[in-house]
Amino acid sequence: MDFRDTPAEAAFRTEVRAFIRENLPADDPAGDDGPPGRFRGLAGWRKKLVEQRWVAPAWPPEYGGGGMPVMQQFILNEEMAEAQAPSVGGLGVSMAGPTIITHGTEDQKQEHLPRILSGEGFWCQGFSEPGAGSDLAALQSRAVRDGDDYVINGQKIWTSMAQYANWMFMLARTDPDAPKHRGISYFLVNMKSPGITVRPIYNLAGRHDFNEVFFDNVRVPARNRVGEENRGWYVGTTTLDFERSSISTAVGHRHRLDTLVRYIQDHPGDGATTLAWNPAVRHEIADRYIEAAAQRLMSYRIITMQARGLIPNYESSMTKLFSSELEQRIARTGMRALGLIGQVISSRDRRAPLKARIAKTYLYSLAITIGGGTSEVQRNVIAQRGLGLPRD
Ligand SMILES: Cc1cc2nc3c(=O)[nH]c(=O)nc-3n(C[C@H](O)[C@H](O)[C@H](O)COP(=O)(O)OP(=O)(O)OC[C@H]3O[C@@H](n4cnc5c(N)ncnc54)[C@H](O)[C@@H]3O)c2cc1C
Repeated sequence: MDFRDTPAEAAFRTEVRAFIRENLPADDPAGDDGPPGRFRGLAGWRKKLVEQRWVAPAWPPEYGGGGMPVMQQFILNEEMAEAQAPSVGGLGVSMAGPTIITHGTEDQKQEHLPRILSGEGFWCQGFSEPGAGSDLAALQSRAVRDGDDYVINGQKIWTSMAQYANWMFMLARTDPDAPKHRGISYFLVNMKSPGITVRPIYNLAGRHDFNEVFFDNVRVPARNRVGEENRGWYVGTTTLDFERSSISTAVGHRHRLDTLVRYIQDHPGDGATTLAWNPAVRHEIADRYIEAAAQRLMSYRIITMQARGLIPNYESSMTKLFSSELEQRIARTGMRALGLIGQVISSRDRRAPLKARIAKTYLYSLAITIGGGTSEVQRNVIAQRGLGLPRD
């Protein structure tokens, strides 16, 4: 087992660190819990990343991407996470772009790819519906062809950032009589189209992060369909050669623990941290450190597989499951360590330890074992594909 970089990887890591040192504005990273755009130097930072072709490291160079092999992407992501640099890609880079690159027409590429990189195109994902989440193929939104357009009716839910997005990539049913995976098409929808209504849903922390989106006779030009009609399910599962180690999350876990431990060390007499001297809480923090280290090793396993040309399968589910549940455990441990005052939720309240970051993480973290595939679904994948256990 040798975790050291090769000379070429070490040189690239040095280049990334130098770039961050020279270009990352000295500001409070939005990372933890801030709304998008809170990071004051974000526009300038994005510009530098665009020039460097590091906004979309996995995209081919002809579309403005970095064309990087997965190991370089891993190093880039690891160093950015260590520096707590804000990410600027969003769903445009990770989902809409790869789909357009792989299945889109030349016009769709010209129209959207440069705008995704520059940040002019801000995308949301219209997949989930009230009756279709884990079983996404059950979706019922309808798209009916009418001349040069499709007319879309239906409802999406949990649509993150739809209130800011100017474009949505979405799935709608074009053949209600076909088997459920084979009657779906993939569309690019301008969020300013008449007939779209975005209604906020407030989360547990009282913040407006996701929405319901209603479609009432929304006309979408047929040229905005990506791929063939009724093949949208397969178009929607497109991915590029992205590194999937979740190294940024693993680094983030360790940062949170470091911050908590530093706070406790710096406030020995503080009522807020008295509980930290309770052996049970001390032991909990130690356990979280071990788990965060284990999480990092899981990331190394995934990237090692990818670097050898293998496609992680149930291994990705293991990482998602462990990482999201670990985030919840870290938040719980933090709340115990800080005691009652740790429950102050306003970051502007000067009594709030660590600007209420732990209290906020505690509230937000409940959702992360649901979004991106629930823990139960991940356990199904591990049991069936990883262990070969029967389905029911
Ligand atoms: C923070 C957050 C952001 C999100 N952002 C978006 C977004 O931008 N766009 C979008 O389209 N969607 C988004 N979602 C929706 C997300 O994809 C769904 O919540 C998720 O797929 C689960 O679907 P559901 O909520 O309908 O729950 P359901 O699928 O109805 O699940 C309900 C419960 O049943 C369990 N369950 C379901 N099927 C099985 C099974 N086969 N075996 C065992 N247990 C099962 C689940 O684990 C869960 O506990 C977001 C969700 C969250 C939490």
